[in-house]
Amino acid sequence: MYDIAVIGGGPAGLSAAVQVRARNRSVLVVSGDDRDNPVYRSQHIANYLGLPDQRGPELLARFQAHADAMGVRRRPGQVLSVMPMGGWFYLSIGSDVEQARALVLATGVVRANKLPGEAEHLGAGVSYCATCDGMLYRGKPVVVVGKTHEAPGEANWLKEIGCQVTYVSEKEPQGLNQAIPFVKSARPEILGEQGVTALRAGDREIPCQGVFILRPSLAPADLLPGLKLEGGYLAVDRSMATSVPGVFAAGDCTGLPLQISKAVGEGQVAGHRAAEYVDKLEKAN
Ligand SMILES: Cc1cc2nc3c(=O)[nH]c(=O)nc-3n(C[C@H](O)[C@H](O)[C@H](O)COP(=O)(O)OP(=O)(O)OC[C@H]3O[C@@H](n4cnc5c(N)ncnc54)[C@H](O)[C@@H]3O)c2cc1C
Repeated sequence: MYDIAVIGGGPAGLSAAVQVRARNRSVLVVSGDDRDNPVYRSQHIANYLGLPDQRGPELLARFQAHADAMGVRRRPGQVLSVMPMGGWFYLSIGSDVEQARALVLATGVVRANKLPGEAEHLGAGVSYCATCDGMLYRGKPVVVVGKTHEAPGEANWLKEIGCQVTYVSEKEPQGLNQAIPFVKSARPEILGEQGVTALRAGDREIPCQGVFILRPSLAPADLLPGLKLEGGYLAVDRSMATSVPGVFAAGDCTGLPLQISKAVGEGQVAGHRAAEYVDKLEKAN
């Protein structure tokens, strides 16, 4: 059990984690592939105080090195859901789990809207995790809608375990098994009445029973139902506390301006307040 778990390893999440370690609490940061992080994708960052003219990958590497030096534990993966257990939280990460007494959500912004048909079929043919649900589709036709750098590898794995895979994405995938057909489409539609029966990509209809949508970020409200939103962003007070006790938030997921300095500052507050929250929990028990 960690004192605090941070979801998202961008500037907000790493800043929160460093602050938690400064208060001598244990902290885990779970985050997707670095190459899908917006800082990594920034060619040139000119407005971060004291470090002008940074390339994105270098700035992210500096943040990570700082976190590592402070004893932050970082693990790759995507948090698929969070369950409050009354005094602690249960995080499902792919097919694995972790536990923490408080949480910092630093998931960035979810830029893509849900696909047509996605919400209706979630858990009934639509999955966000190939490793968790792939075995259910052995021998069956599935589509991977790939939006991350890791998605071609996930599609290859589904094929290895015996799924009949088609890969759909906006851009040509790197590292996709050549035996997997690739269909270019930015916004496919999931079809079916009682469960998924096909995916429409442009003028093609691909018959399938499962659709794996692999995105770098999940909307926080999908991770933990009950979080209050304001203008589409997580509602927080000045201590970066959300509407769920023990859950703090920082960075782009709390709203404008979507900037690194703001993310780092909010992360510092969220990490500090999350550590204080755990102190209080301990004193109360
Ligand atoms: C092209 C580009 C250029 C930019 N240039 C600048 C600039 O010059 N100056 C500036 O100040 N800002 C710039 N920005 C904005 C800046 O990158 C963001 O404001 C900043 O990265 C926000 O930090 P964050 O930590 O809140 O979120 P992010 O950096 O988005 O980090 C969130 C991380 O959480 C991960 N994540 C989300 N959900 C989950 C989950 N369920 N499980 C595990 N991990 C998850 C995501 O994959 C991501 O890695 C730029 C953005 C872009 C896209």
